[in-house]
Amino acid sequence: MIARKTVKDIDVAGKRVLVRVDFNVPLDKKTGEVADDRRIREALPTIQYLLSHGANVILMSHLGRPDGQVVESLRLDNVAKRLDQLLAEKGTDVKVRKLSDSVGPEVEKEVKSGQYQLILLENLRFHAEEEKNDPKFAAQLASLAEVYINDAFGTAHRAHASTEGVAHLLPAATGFLIERELENLGKLLERPKDGFVVALGGAKVEDKIGVVSNLLGKVEKILIGGGMSYTFLKALGKPIGTSLLDEKHLASCADVLNRAKTAGTQIFLPTDVVVTDNVKKPTKIIPRVKVEDIPADMQGADIGPDTINSFTALIRLAQTAFWNGPMGAFEFSPDFARGTTATAEALAECKGFTVVGGGETAQAVEEAGLEDKITFVSTGGGACLEFVAGIELPGIKVIPEK
Ligand code: AMP
Repeated sequence: MIARKTVKDIDVAGKRVLVRVDFNVPLDKKTGEVADDRRIREALPTIQYLLSHGANVILMSHLGRPDGQVVESLRLDNVAKRLDQLLAEKGTDVKVRKLSDSVGPEVEKEVKSGQYQLILLENLRFHAEEEKNDPKFAAQLASLAEVYINDAFGTAHRAHASTEGVAHLLPAATGFLIERELENLGKLLERPKDGFVVALGGAKVEDKIGVVSNLLGKVEKILIGGGMSYTFLKALGKPIGTSLLDEKHLASCADVLNRAKTAGTQIFLPTDVVVTDNVKKPTKIIPRVKVEDIPADMQGADIGPDTINSFTALIRLAQTAFWNGPMGAFEFSPDFARGTTATAEALAECKGFTVVGGGETAQAVEEAGLEDKITFVSTGGGACLEFVAGIELPGIKVIPEK
């Protein structure tokens, strides 16, 4: 594991420090207020460290998918408000100055006035140049500061102007959140193959087939549940009814299943499932159907009781366990949430080194009140998966080594 420079390795006193944070938080549909402030809370240690070491802090983030347009409901004003409240709760009496753009003469004037110790720029993705990693946009961002800190692990797998481009132009380091991610996920990669169990769920085969492929030969067992498992089952010739199917990736699923045999990694698929007439609006549910018997007019919505038993037994006994992706369509019915809850509980009961990868999976663990029983809960979804699959993240690679 290459150690990257952290905020502690850079002199920040009296400097303007540009910090990429992940304030891509869910907003309340009616009020527009921050509905879950977890990501803002997670950025506090780096922000507080910088403030207490005499830096002028300029925060930047994206929110949602405005696709290069100004979308009023995706402005960061409510994020700034929540950040103010959280800082006040921590006894920091610095107020956030929220600007109405992320680049341009007005922004430069305010940033360089020296009047504000803590600034939040407007949603970066109001400019299409951000996601294109446009060099001019990166240069405009870089011109605001003397130091760059990346603390947004959730977007570190994307080479955008604020996560990659700007790091070439300023002395750069990671914040505490990324430092912790690299430390813990790095340890995961160093764990021996024996006793290493990976559980994967979720809907999209496309997102995870590369991960499964990269893990072959590196881990002992891969358990595949969720919507993505039906393309694998179909590749084995099972009838999957109207379950999710990704035709485009059928051949790669078959290929991975084949290669697993010689790579020394066992892949486990569901042996029984919960089926329904309609995942989103179920009127009929059968709680246990063998995968050989999925009716033609029904679809799989969760792993079944036998699969729950076998998957959770393997997880509980693991020396190392990593989990990403819900095992069923948990948000639509409690009848489709059992596989996901049972997986979270098995991880919590496992005595080995346990890691859960971001997004909905982390949320499931948090909602079950099991967070403290997991060795590490990553803040990244896609970033965490790519890291675990051994792919170098552009937002990390660009940070100088210690
Ligand atoms: P992903 O973004 O690929 O991690 O997928 C997460 C989504 O997968 C969640 O919204 C779940 O509802 C969905 N999901 C999990 N299992 C199933 C399933 N069997 N059928 C349909 N959707 C599923």
